[in-house]
Amino acid sequence: MVLTDDELEKLIKAGEIVRRVLDYASSYVKPGLNVLDVCERLENMIIDLGGLPAFPCNVSINSIAAHYTSPPNDSAIIPQNSLVKVDVGAHVDGYIADAAITLSFNPDYDVMVDAVKAALNRAISMIRPGIKVSQISRSIEEVIRGYGFKPISNLCGHLLRRYILHGGKSIPNISGNYPWIVEEGDVFAIEPFATDGGGRVVEGSSTYIFSFVRNRAKGRFERKLLSFIRSHFRSLPFCTRWFKGFFNIDSVVDVLDRLNKNGSIYGYPVLKEVKGGLVAQAEHSVIVTGDGALVTTLGGRLN
Ligand code: MN
Ligand code: MN
Repeated sequence: MVLTDDELEKLIKAGEIVRRVLDYASSYVKPGLNVLDVCERLENMIIDLGGLPAFPCNVSINSIAAHYTSPPNDSAIIPQNSLVKVDVGAHVDGYIADAAITLSFNPDYDVMVDAVKAALNRAISMIRPGIKVSQISRSIEEVIRGYGFKPISNLCGHLLRRYILHGGKSIPNISGNYPWIVEEGDVFAIEPFATDGGGRVVEGSSTYIFSFVRNRAKGRFERKLLSFIRSHFRSLPFCTRWFKGFFNIDSVVDVLDRLNKNGSIYGYPVLKEVKGGLVAQAEHSVIVTGDGALVTTLGGRLN
């Protein structure tokens, strides 16, 4: 389906916001900083630039691959010699841009960052209507293996739809026979992950990010919290920090746990490399045009 001018404008604006935030993050994020400060500063920057966070800012360190955002009062510090993924999403009226960079604070890790960037560039260069996702996935794997690393087999790029972060089609990072074809008007986040570990991620014990599923709230406070979630975040991911100033945070932690258990919300546990390997990620969002791709998170206009 071809996008309207209004949809294009909003997607490009969201992309430009994410580009600016990651551009800032690439010089601002350093060992010694509080992870909580990083998350809040980058999320506030999205708002200052005229968007809303499409999901909590992810700051995933070393063998943590994804889904780490600071819980309230997080005391975590970015360590020396670390490999840090900063993954940011913004939306304008539900139209999402999602991109990530990996910052290497140890020269030994730089080549892994090069690997995911090269894999992402290769994938973007292939995007056009009619191409099979299987071809793109095979290339991503080839590039990462060419650098001597393994792609992470169970993390995928994904279609972006209005207010929906993971909308149907996927772009896996390993070869396979996948059913999806790239079509004009599709909006994809493409995100190769590489590791020197086992090549897949497993769920850790902590969960800091959630999204609404269905209304199964029982008590009064559960219903109140769920109605806040639906009106503020719709189906997009959120975190406990975002209830500050609206609710008592200790009660929110308990109630989110109950809502997660009864299926009202879905929890995204922190994902870590199965063998504790280091993980690098590169991500951009692209709009599939008639003859190629427009990378929304690599420039565009900001009105
Ligand atoms: Mn992302
Ligand atoms: Mn993504």
